[in-house]
Amino acid sequence: MPEGLIYKALSGYYYVMNEEGRPIQCRARGIFKKRGESPLVGDRVDYGETENGEGTVDRILPRSTELVRPPVANADLAVLVFSVLRPELNLQLLDKFLVHTEHAGLDALIVLTKMDALDDAEDGDRVRADVEAARALYASIGYETIATSSKKREGLDALRERLSRHISVFAGQSGVGKSSLVNALVPGLELATNEISDKLGRGKHTTRHVELIRLEHGGYVADTPGFSQLDFAELGIEQIGDCFREFRELSAGCKFRGCTHIHEPGCAVLAAKESGAIAASRYDHYAGFMAEWKENRRRY
Ligand code: GDP
Ligand code: ZN
Repeated sequence: MPEGLIYKALSGYYYVMNEEGRPIQCRARGIFKKRGESPLVGDRVDYGETENGEGTVDRILPRSTELVRPPVANADLAVLVFSVLRPELNLQLLDKFLVHTEHAGLDALIVLTKMDALDDAEDGDRVRADVEAARALYASIGYETIATSSKKREGLDALRERLSRHISVFAGQSGVGKSSLVNALVPGLELATNEISDKLGRGKHTTRHVELIRLEHGGYVADTPGFSQLDFAELGIEQIGDCFREFRELSAGCKFRGCTHIHEPGCAVLAAKESGAIAASRYDHYAGFMAEWKENRRRY
């Protein structure tokens, strides 16, 4: 039975891209409804073609991940988009996105945008030095960074290469240049700038529609950004530390099981923070997130 990937769902139809890159408009078989399942954008499926030129989704292959916002299956890469200027890189927000990315089971790629803006900025050299230091820090933890300028079309080939073979979801504050970047990546695509941000649906948009955009060099990108809900409602407090990659291995060396790495004696994470093996900014953000979780626990 042929296999394909659902790249769009609309008005009861599922649009499946087959292995030759041909789209087929499909209905889901009744069996899914009976089982209370429904196909998601991103699902790899077995499909059949019917005589009227349409098709049916017959079987959903097992999912590797499942996001709620946007509703996408099998996403495996979060592209965390940060501008270097207007607004400046915000490492606390980056760490927050990384917690959510790790929790969802996605790999993360940090993409810096508006690199061109550093050339004319008055304090460009200072900002550039901060950006380079941040890149080195995150590389040491195992996160890759790609620096881009949509305006000058720089860094795009490296990004296209990194996105091939993945289903990616972009995330980042409004105004950092997500739409501009996706437009620059996909020839012929013209998302209105800010469109990808507006799709976050600040109450106005009722039906949340997501579509995967197929990239020329392979891979798909969701046209709706992810991780828009940046509180910790979906995490248990004990899970926050596990979402800091460099804490994970160390925590096996903590004296107490279930160590929160805040005040316990014999804490390997605190010791690593003291010795400088863990960056102060990372630890401080961790402690801040733990406090935020506690403050909001009644709401979660
Ligand atoms: P989004 O809200 O994250 O989708 O951001 P947009 O793509 O709408 O861009 C926000 C603003 O940043 C717009 O005014 C863009 O013109 C500007 N911008 C986007 N990319 C670049 C870039 O590479 N260089 C510069 N200098 N400005 C950019
Ligand atoms: Zn500890």
